[in-house]
Amino acid sequence: MFNISRVASAPSCLARNIYNDPTVVAILKPMFYGKCYLCEQIDLADPEIEHFVPHQGNDMLKYDWNNLFYACGRCNSIKGTGHINLLNCTDSSINVTQEIEHILPGLSSEKVIVRPHSLTPSQETINTVALLDECYNLDNTGLRGITRENLMEKIFDCYYEYINARRVLITRASLPSKVEEAIQTINIMCRPAFPFSVFWIWHFKLDSRLHELRPEVLELINA
Ligand SMILES: [Zn+2]
Repeated sequence: MFNISRVASAPSCLARNIYNDPTVVAILKPMFYGKCYLCEQIDLADPEIEHFVPHQGNDMLKYDWNNLFYACGRCNSIKGTGHINLLNCTDSSINVTQEIEHILPGLSSEKVIVRPHSLTPSQETINTVALLDECYNLDNTGLRGITRENLMEKIFDCYYEYINARRVLITRASLPSKVEEAIQTINIMCRPAFPFSVFWIWHFKLDSRLHELRPEVLELINA
């Protein structure tokens, strides 16, 4: 999960009790960097306007600009109305990326690890961990098995880019120009506009071997 800054002014259609309007999507999509705010995939084939707090017929929530988020169909259906009291990525007082560790397995068919970073996480963090664990791992129906497979392949495409850059950094014989390029690659991957940025940030943060060999790259994660 990544933080975003919400555009202050609400689209005018909301005052007319319309939220699924092109003007809403036109603002939401770039505001969320074109990514699902939960799984962080980009170029969504099935984008949806998601209600952060389930509206359940309440018009105040249904047409509240602050309650509209950009999500993929898979995450929206998993979240449903059962996942509430979550970390809000539009709240600038919480660094949502730092709250939850995300670690990839060696095989795309295996489980993604999603866990609180703090030993004493807030209830919002615990609830969000439970939701993200399902977003990345749930394959309880035939279709969810397929959407999970597709999601994991997209993540692994980026994972290979990360691993290639890391390999350059941990190889002592790497040319300085290649090292510089690898640092730039990881730097770009850790920005919120990049797909699945939370994974690259955590893989980088938890990589003691990389920090030992290239202490100069540590400043990257604070950039
Ligand atoms: Zn998603």
